[in-house]
Amino acid sequence: MPGQITENLKKKVAGRLAFYEDLGIRFFYRDRRREALFEQEKPVESLDNAMRPAEIAYQEPTLPKIPRRPGLQKVVSTAPSKMPPVPLPAAPGPSLFDAADKIVGDTLLRIREDLGECTRCKLYKHRHTIVFGDGSPKAELVFVGEGPGADEDAQGLPFVGRAGKLLTQMIEAMGLERQDVYICNVVKCRPPENRTPEDDEVSTCSPFLLRQLEVISPKVIVCLGAVAAKTLLRTNRGISQFRGQWLDYRGSKLMATYHPAYLLRNPNAKGEVWKDLQKVMAVLGLQARKGKPA
Ligand code: SF4
Repeated sequence: MPGQITENLKKKVAGRLAFYEDLGIRFFYRDRRREALFEQEKPVESLDNAMRPAEIAYQEPTLPKIPRRPGLQKVVSTAPSKMPPVPLPAAPGPSLFDAADKIVGDTLLRIREDLGECTRCKLYKHRHTIVFGDGSPKAELVFVGEGPGADEDAQGLPFVGRAGKLLTQMIEAMGLERQDVYICNVVKCRPPENRTPEDDEVSTCSPFLLRQLEVISPKVIVCLGAVAAKTLLRTNRGISQFRGQWLDYRGSKLMATYHPAYLLRNPNAKGEVWKDLQKVMAVLGLQARKGKPA
């Protein structure tokens, strides 16, 4: 019967709520005015069709699209919309981001505690250590990578292997030390054989990354590689199409550049990355200390 809640649906909803509770998100409510608006709205367009910065915002895939928080949206296009004007709802609906906003007093420690000895996705089976993140909780600059490798899995710290050493060189060349920035990954457990994290692993683990970014609220986020960029920008476009461009991520400036592991395989791309980092330095008012990384 239409409108009837089946046992199967009840189980799915209960499972989803338990998952959010695990993440520390405990407040949900139903906004009937918002529901009425959704009925009028067209399906959400892919971001691949709209790479304008103001439209790049994370959307929890199974929940409705919610407007960005007031005051953070950067309007960059004056092109007339084909959509009829939709008034803003009086209160935000239950997107994952807006639910995360309601975690009053959220901290990195609390997020780590919520993560616990996580077994939420299959990556837990092969890991030795969860690699949560490292650096200053007040960092103006956050680097987001893909996932831990063997060295990181062994030490419990992000970017400590060969690629990590190159990242450290780049950070120092920017006039900073590692402890001045925050470094983390999209997934917190090492994928077997260093393979790319799969979609279900990214969607299960990334809410913790989003909470980390919400707590740190950096001025600049640098996505190292396609996985981080695609996760935060919700796009399937190749990184080369937007690498080195300033984009908006919930009020932070976001730039995607190549992963240091890619640079180890393709040293010729180091110059491009250094140009990207120089743009970051200009925004943060940094002076190069040692010139280009080796
Ligand atoms: S990758 Fe993330 S979600 Fe998966 S088991 Fe590790 S911490 Fe949990």
